[in-house]
Amino acid sequence: MVNSLNKKDFLDNTIKQLKDTVELLKLEAWIFDFLKEPKTSLIVSIPVKMDDGSIKIFQGFRVQHSNARGPYKGGIRYSPEVTLEEIKALAMLMTWKCAVIDIPFGGAKGGVICDTKNMSLGEKERLTRRYTNAIFNLIGPYVDIPGPDMYTDPQTMAWVMDTYSQIKGYAVPEIVTGKPVSLGGSEGRLMATSRGVSICVREATNLLNIPLRDAEVVIQGFGNVGSFTAHLLKNMGCKIIAVSDSKGGVLNRKGLDIFKLSEYKLKNGTVVGFDGESISNKELLQLECDILIPAALEGSIGKEEAPFVKAKIIVEGANGPLTAEADEILKANKVFIVPDILANSGGVLVSYLEWVQNLNREHWSEEEVNSKLEIKMVKAFKEVLKLSQEKGETLRRAALSLGIKRVAEAIKVRGIWP
Ligand code: NAD
Repeated sequence: MVNSLNKKDFLDNTIKQLKDTVELLKLEAWIFDFLKEPKTSLIVSIPVKMDDGSIKIFQGFRVQHSNARGPYKGGIRYSPEVTLEEIKALAMLMTWKCAVIDIPFGGAKGGVICDTKNMSLGEKERLTRRYTNAIFNLIGPYVDIPGPDMYTDPQTMAWVMDTYSQIKGYAVPEIVTGKPVSLGGSEGRLMATSRGVSICVREATNLLNIPLRDAEVVIQGFGNVGSFTAHLLKNMGCKIIAVSDSKGGVLNRKGLDIFKLSEYKLKNGTVVGFDGESISNKELLQLECDILIPAALEGSIGKEEAPFVKAKIIVEGANGPLTAEADEILKANKVFIVPDILANSGGVLVSYLEWVQNLNREHWSEEEVNSKLEIKMVKAFKEVLKLSQEKGETLRRAALSLGIKRVAEAIKVRGIWP
């Protein structure tokens, strides 16, 4: 089981990153005061008719952090562990992420405290529709555009789109991204975050002169981000030696058959028991390897785990997978870390491309989408790397500097009104 991070620590750490960066950039103190809190935080109560006839009340959130550079943008997360603190931290990270990848969006995040593993499809649909209704006045195609996150998927986004459109009285595909392609979803969106993560792996290995062919990769989390990253990296010649999910992991030093593993996970609901050695999530993090990709939850690598990490490179597929202490330990141990706000920005980038296609009633080919993703990701990686080399800072500090500087510039040039 992954080390479960105190969500308050996650938020405090995210605010501390902002404070440190504002000081590093010598920005005005009011910029920190303005950005440390979200512009809006909404808590909603969601009654849902369950299959057994009972009515259960769920709690949900929508947090809008900053819209200085464009409409709010951020996923909806379903998890029993969701808290307001976590959603606030994730909304702030979204603001920096959109600025680093340089798309005209601000940051937001949504979440509902629920255990989708123990809910039927009908219950999930009714929850999603009622939640959409509850946040209806806050969202809009030019105001706040939700998308998928942990335990939400294209079907969930289709329900959000339909509910919003039913209330409006006409189809509004541009209200949400990550939809099924049949409903105006973008080609390439499903794998976009993983494609961005893979591009970062390629750029980082090039930089460190580690051959991609047969590079040993370990991935924590085998959901959307983890599983597609495994497929893409395998196609690029890497050897995926271990993966895990919430139930545990599997190791095969000769390389896992990712195609068969995906089939196995679909059938059995877990990677545990697949051909290879069964390992715990803790053991997985300590494996000798070239690249470690945490693609599960925030805080999965803390001060207990960090000293034992043997990977040369960490590419953060998940948001906030390292605690502040772990980040320091790994930095001291000279692990090359590609931070979340750069590494997993491919998802929001293609969400932006989906939104642009929807607004223009266009549909682009997968090649076109992937080529735009490649160009933007490489540009962002190079910009962050250049800044880190110029300032002698880590990639994380450089990415935060780039993102926060762009947001602060937008705030200042827009001015305070009234
Ligand atoms: P997902 O729900 O598809 O998959 C999550 C995976 O993590 C599952 O395999 C689950 O079993 C595993 N997991 C959950 N708890 C675990 C635990 N305690 N130990 C080990 N594994 C555990 O979610 P996702 O969309 O792949 O998102 C994963 C991470 O990536 C999240 O931090 C999310 O915020 C981030 N992210 C996702 C996207 C996206 O486009 N999906 C974009 C940017 C960032």
